[in-house]
This record gives sequence, C-alpha cells and structure tokens, in this order.
Amino acid sequence: MREFKGVGVSPGIAIAKVFVLHSGGSFNLPKREITPDLIPGEITRFEDALARTRTEILEIRRKLSDQIGRESSDIFTAHLLILEDRTLIEDVIEVIRNEQGVAEYAFATVMQRYFQAFSQINDEYLKERISDIRDVGRRLLGNLCGEEKRRLEELPEKVIIISHDLSPSDTATLDKSKVLAFVTEIGGPTSHTAILGRSFEIPAVVGTGKIISEINNGMTVIVDGTHGVVVVDPDQATIDKFTSEGDRFVQISGELEKLRDLPTETLDGKRVVLGANIEFHHEVASVISHGAEGVGLYRTEYLYMNRIALPTEEEQYEAYRKVAETMNPRAVIIRTLDLGGDKFASTLEIPHEMNPYLGWRAIRFCLTRKDIFKTQMRAILRASAHGNVKIMYPMISNIYEIREARELLNLSMAELEREGKPFNRQIDVGAMIEIPSAALTSDVLAQEVSFFSLGTNDLIQYVLAIDRTNEKIAYLYEPTHPAILRLVEMTINNGHRGKIWVGSCGEMSANPKIAILLLGLGIDEISASPIVLPKIKKAIRSIKYSDAREIAQKALSLPTGKEIDQFLNEKLKDICKDLVDE
Ligand code: PEP
Ligand code: MG
Repeated sequence: MREFKGVGVSPGIAIAKVFVLHSGGSFNLPKREITPDLIPGEITRFEDALARTRTEILEIRRKLSDQIGRESSDIFTAHLLILEDRTLIEDVIEVIRNEQGVAEYAFATVMQRYFQAFSQINDEYLKERISDIRDVGRRLLGNLCGEEKRRLEELPEKVIIISHDLSPSDTATLDKSKVLAFVTEIGGPTSHTAILGRSFEIPAVVGTGKIISEINNGMTVIVDGTHGVVVVDPDQATIDKFTSEGDRFVQISGELEKLRDLPTETLDGKRVVLGANIEFHHEVASVISHGAEGVGLYRTEYLYMNRIALPTEEEQYEAYRKVAETMNPRAVIIRTLDLGGDKFASTLEIPHEMNPYLGWRAIRFCLTRKDIFKTQMRAILRASAHGNVKIMYPMISNIYEIREARELLNLSMAELEREGKPFNRQIDVGAMIEIPSAALTSDVLAQEVSFFSLGTNDLIQYVLAIDRTNEKIAYLYEPTHPAILRLVEMTINNGHRGKIWVGSCGEMSANPKIAILLLGLGIDEISASPIVLPKIKKAIRSIKYSDAREIAQKALSLPTGKEIDQFLNEKLKDICKDLVDE
C-alpha cells in the first residue's frame, strides 16, 4: 500500500480498479511493469502497432505522390525503412522481455536510446535523420496509446483513470459511465482538466507527481478528491475507512441538496445570485438539480474541440438555444470562444507558443478570426430570442477590445435583421475581469458593459505570475493573497460606482470560506460548478451580511495570504462547522 498526495480538484471518494492511460506525444514514459504471462501479448500489441503505422504511412505516401509527385513523398519511404529496421524491432522486444515493461514503455525507451546515440554523431546528414525517427516514433506511439483509448471504451467495468496528463480535449471524451474518478501526475488546481472533473461530478486529483510507475492495470486504488489523496493497493482497513468517509460525503451532499429550492440569502436578507458554470449544453439538468438560479458561465470552447470541422452557426444555435430555453427565465451567460492557453481545437491552427497563456488566446484570437467570431455571435444572438441570454467576452485587457467586439456584434445584429431572424437587440454584454489591467481600469471598463464577471482562475495566474496548469508551483497559487483581495474589492467597487453588477466565476468561490469573503466584499453573483453550489448556498444562508462585511474588512487588513486563509477558516468553523473540510 502507498499513499500519494496531489491537489483535490473534484470532491468525493471512489474505490475501484485502475486503468493507466498514456496520453502519447512524449517519449518520456514512466515504466509500467507486467507479469511474465503478459509478455507475448505485449509483443503482439507492438507488432500490430507496427503494422498499423506501416499502413498509415503507405496511405499518406500514396496520397502525397498523387498530389505533389513522387519525390516529395520519398521522405515517407525513409519512414517505412525505419519501421522495418530489424534492430529496432528486436531492441523493443528485448525490453519488453527483459525489463517486463508494457509495449509503449519499451518502444519509448528504445527511441530515447536512439536519440541519444544520434545526438553524439558528428554528421549533419545523419543528425537530420533524427527528426524522421521522432516523427515515425510519435505515430507508432500514438497508435499504441490510441489503442489504449479504444480499450478504455470497451471496458467491462467501471475504472479509475490514472494518466501522466489529460488534455482538456482528452478529458472531454472520457465516458462518464465508465470512469469513476481520475488522477493525473501533472496539472494545477484550476487547469481546465481539473475543471472538467468537477463538471463530470467525479472525484479527481491532479499533480500527484510520479505515480504510474507504482501501478499496474487492474490494481485497486482509492481516490479522495476532497483531500487530494490517492492510495494505491490499499489494505482492507484503509478500504473500510475510506468507504465510510465516502458514505459520509454522500450523506452530507444529500442534506445540502435539500436547500435546493431555498433562496441564496443571508440571515439578514441580502440576496446573492447563485449561478452555475457549464462546459456542455447537456449539463443544464444538473444545473437545475443543484439549485442554480442561472448559468453564470457557459464555456463554449468545448463545442470546438475533438472534431474535424468547426461547429456551424446552426449547430451552435441549437446548443445555446437548448440551454436558454431550459433555463428561461433564468439568465444564461454565454462566454465567447476562449481557446488557447491549455485549450486547443485541432481544427484551428493555433500554433504552439512559448507562453500560451500570454499569447493568442480568447478575445485576441477571435478579433483576428472575425469570420469564426461572427458565426458564434450570430448563433448567440439567435439563441437570445429563446430566453434570458447574455454575452460575455473573455480575456479583456483594454477598452478597444470591447469596442471592436461591439462593432462586430452590431454588424451581426444588422445581418440578422436583414434576414428576418429574431434576436434580443437589448442583449446584455459583459466583460470578464481576469487580467490585471482590466481590474485596475475597471472604472473605465464599467462605462462600456452591463456587467463584470471576475475570472479569478486567470486573474490569480496573471497577478501572481503562476501558470495555473503547473503543479510544481501550485503551492504558490494563493486565492487569498492580499493582492487578489485588493483587486477583487477594487473591481466590485468600480462596478457598483458605474451602476453595473459584478459576479465571480472562478474556481476559488467553490470554497465556502471564499464565498463568504466575496459576499462581504459586495459581490452580486457567484457562479461555480453545479456540484459545489449547495455548499455555497449553505454558507451564505448561515451568516449575516453585516458580519460578512466585517470579516471581509478584517481579511483585507491582514498582511499575508496564509493569515487570511487561516482567519477565514476560523470564521467558517464558527458559522457552519459542517462546511469545513477536515
Ligand atoms: C477564470 O479564468 O476564472 C474563468 C472562469 O475562466 P476559465 O477558467 O475558463 O479560464
Ligand atoms: Mg479565464
């Protein structure tokens, strides 16, 4: 039995057999051992992957040859030769046999050896060949790992997925009915992979560090997504302990669900709007069952992932309309496309950048690809005829972006009018405040929009200079840092002075103690994953607004994030002990 600590990103407890999923792309794979009886099977898997890769390359070569001539397709002849290299094949089989590693590990290990050997050769031509080997290697590894994904789809039982990494697009394709929990070796608490875990309502832990090397497929694992703990190969006493904690979690969740139809208001009558964050239109049922009063953030970028062509206006319209109609008259805030950062769509050529979070992302991407942006705006506008739809722009850093987007929105409205398609001309337009420059100039921005929504996931990463996906610096990711509190307070006050409402849709408000802080700072709306809404409601219903204001003022006067955090913990304990995670 071994215990690993990571960051718990989606609460609850799962106990089940593990399925290790390799994400592919890198040759640095952790070793996963197999028992001797599985060796022949692994060799066959490797040989099948070789054959499949060969067929693929032959097909590419044929197509290229038809399109651009024989010569240019010769590069693929070189690739085929690599695949037929007996030494390479035998080396891989030897690692499977002697080291008893799975096929992808054996292949990646042999590849690494080749890269090493080639890098020491003093011949430019031969050095160049290394990129061919890498290319073929990636394709073959992709086939081996892809097969694992297919095996995942055919699993007879429910499993816990453990992977080095899962991209948001990988995570989005996980079959909820098969996956009880997931764990990744890397990743920070507000990475979009983590956020998807919450939207799937399954326990999830990220950033455990090396764990795959300790695991074999089929081993039993416990995942405690509330406390960020993963236990590999637990003994019976540990299984019993976590089973009873899991029961307690289910019981508390059940009690909290009873608050569903009660208003989100403090003991002295101050109302806060409780919204839900969603990634997929089919989540609306969960939004309603968890007592949300609206959708505070609809992350539309998932419509663009894992597909060959971009979503059409019609397809988007259908998705947005469904949410708008189901939620009506409750508000639905549709955020325009926020790709880039850790979210990519294979159809869009967003290049890999040195600093993707500071790069061509979100509104910046949309304003240079106005064709794509306008299609989305038209779809959102058309959906606004079916409910209480608002539109919100991500990553606003200055006033020009809002004005340029406004022009395109006006153009889209004019087009729809000409075409006789109905929409709400008075649609509210809001800006996410998630870049320090936006928070610092929120007095000016408040003149341009109808509402603000604080995107604290990004605000924290940009203010504290911490990559939100990087587990190595996750310990610095401090929502209670005084700099964050000051910017949040400033944004709320500037919004109110400008007579607009201010919400918050970052993950930090999922924590009841932070929800109380936001309440005390004067927030009008809190939006979070549906699964955490009952806790937030309970916290708000357990306190007086006047007390929350005092708590917030005291927190603002404290010098460090740790002291603020501790202070808020103590207050939460006084207010509602049940909500404190021990
Ligand atoms: C945020 O940045 O806080 C936010 C809500 O948006 P996302 O997590 O999608 O970047
Ligand atoms: Mg954001």
